[in-house]
Amino acid sequence: MYLIEIYKSVQGESTFAGLPCVFVRLAGCNLRCSWCDSEYTFKGGYRQTLDEVEEAVAALAPVRLVEFTGGEPMLQERELVPLMERMLANGYTLMIETSGERPLGSVPKDVHKIVDVKCPGSGEGGTFRMENLETLTKRDEMKFVISDRNDYEFARDFALEHRLAELGGAVLFSPAFKRAPSLERSTSNCALDPRLLVEWMLADGVPARLSLQIHKFIWEPQKKGV
Ligand code: SF4
Repeated sequence: MYLIEIYKSVQGESTFAGLPCVFVRLAGCNLRCSWCDSEYTFKGGYRQTLDEVEEAVAALAPVRLVEFTGGEPMLQERELVPLMERMLANGYTLMIETSGERPLGSVPKDVHKIVDVKCPGSGEGGTFRMENLETLTKRDEMKFVISDRNDYEFARDFALEHRLAELGGAVLFSPAFKRAPSLERSTSNCALDPRLLVEWMLADGVPARLSLQIHKFIWEPQKKGV
């Protein structure tokens, strides 16, 4: 499989936020979200066998929580799914962060899926594969990255219409970051002020939780490999 990096950090978003985690970042993405912070994954990457990936993860022990991310990891489904199956059998807790555009039916049920639904402001609205809703379990989380009020209303209505809070686990509303953030570790780098987002959520009583990308407040927002 083609990789960009394997590293250890704290999980930055989702209900696992704050836990030590090994990230396996796969190369390639078929979408081009306007606020993407992972454009360096679009090209290149180095090839490793499944054995080599598992060895690289094991070298970062004792962390046993592993997140597959990208890019879009499910573009390499043919190798990724067998890797996830054997790592589950070896006792790892696994997560996958995915755009929601690829079919997710082959992801093993024990893997925690963090599934995006792209809002209009991403420029990739409408790419969510609706049949992926049928793959959700209580382990899984749905994430909306929100740039403005229009995105918020889309996310709110989608979450309510499809009863996401009942279908899966948490529903995450995450304010988008600016494309060119400063080095400051502050909410001034958010494209949408989290306070405003919270006010909207409280006003509507949306069954969702605010999700901040905490690694962008612990380290400088543009720092890679954290
Ligand atoms: S799906 Fe993820 S990696 Fe791909 S363009 Fe969107 S934010 Fe970037």
